[in-house]
Amino acid sequence: MTADTAPQKTNLLGMSRQEMESFFLSIGEKKFRAAQVMKWIHHEGCDDFAAMTNISKALRTRLAEVAEVRGPGVIYEGASSDGTRKWVLEVEDGSYVETVLIPADNGKRRTLCVSSQVGCSLDCSFCSTGKQGFQRNLTAAEIIGQVWVAQRSVGPRKDTANRPVTNVVMMGMGEPLMNYDNVVPAMKLMLDDDGYGLSKRRVTLSTSGVVPMIDRLGDEIDVSLAISLHAATDELRTELVPINRKYNIRSLLDACHRYLAKCDDTRMITIEYTLIKDVNDQQVHAEQLAALLEELPCKINLIPFNPFPHSGYEKPSRNQCVRFQQWLYELGYTAPIRTTRGDDIDAACGQLVGRVKDRTRRHERYIQSIQIDAD
Ligand code: SAH
Ligand code: SF4
Repeated sequence: MTADTAPQKTNLLGMSRQEMESFFLSIGEKKFRAAQVMKWIHHEGCDDFAAMTNISKALRTRLAEVAEVRGPGVIYEGASSDGTRKWVLEVEDGSYVETVLIPADNGKRRTLCVSSQVGCSLDCSFCSTGKQGFQRNLTAAEIIGQVWVAQRSVGPRKDTANRPVTNVVMMGMGEPLMNYDNVVPAMKLMLDDDGYGLSKRRVTLSTSGVVPMIDRLGDEIDVSLAISLHAATDELRTELVPINRKYNIRSLLDACHRYLAKCDDTRMITIEYTLIKDVNDQQVHAEQLAALLEELPCKINLIPFNPFPHSGYEKPSRNQCVRFQQWLYELGYTAPIRTTRGDDIDAACGQLVGRVKDRTRRHERYIQSIQIDAD
């Protein structure tokens, strides 16, 4: 049989528990095999059925014939002096995505910033991913594959107290709620004890505000929610985040309340606010923001705009960011200023993937640029 006519093997990497159980039933095996194989894949980072020693030899051989564990290819891996680690990963069609692991709290927290799409269709005016346009949705295997690669690289999960990845934020490239059907199974694997076993407070989905999907998300899974707000009036927000034309601020905040009502604990929404010089960084903006969020249990993260060529926007000075923070403080909000890399970042990794290969850029130049960056 030639490679062209060989039947395609089923990739088990992105399968949720339910899908894995159905797979084993479909090949005449018992459901409990799913948990065994999931542990090998996600706890041990194993992609070789032959090494799965608690499974009979006959089944291992059978699995190798019909299935595979295929993660993204690692094109580049680098670590910067502040402990941040980056991977450039090649996904199925030769596109690249970047995944970043950011340490915080003296190494106690290691947050992985995960991408959901190649490019993004929502075209926020200050986002370089948006400027690249939309190429395609990542599959569940490509999404969880980012966690799988990072964990394999840092070391297998020895015990729950010492996880290589302690938190995941869906803040890489793409709008996760525009790729709902792949993002949700991948997040289920992040939460599953036989997957990555992360608590719901440690898995965060960030969205620019796809309102109907926020409702669906709340019905199906319980994770932390971050909203990319960036402006407190519809006029300004529509300019920055065009999906606001379809789902305005009021409808977005209502969806946040509905989401919180579905959570079985006291949860807060994270509000992301990218500070852009002379656009949304003045006192009046802080006042509008504080008034708008009065009723919503939330915490605000301030993210200084990360400039990129031809964006037309500038980053505010550090002083201006601190002034904005102070205005919010006087209005009752403690809002940390997040940086896009470094010591304490739960947000704004979106920018780190902004340099991912666009189709015109030469691979070598790209690798060179991130190597310089990671030094
Ligand atoms: N699409 C999702 C998640 C990816 S973007 C969303 O928009 O929420 C992750 C975060 O990075 C978002 O809050 C986004 O607004 C922010 N971001 C994008 N471009 C940025 C830039 N140039 N500077 C600072 N933050 C940026
Ligand atoms: Fe897409 Fe988020 Fe960038 Fe907007 S900020 S273009 S939604 S990735």
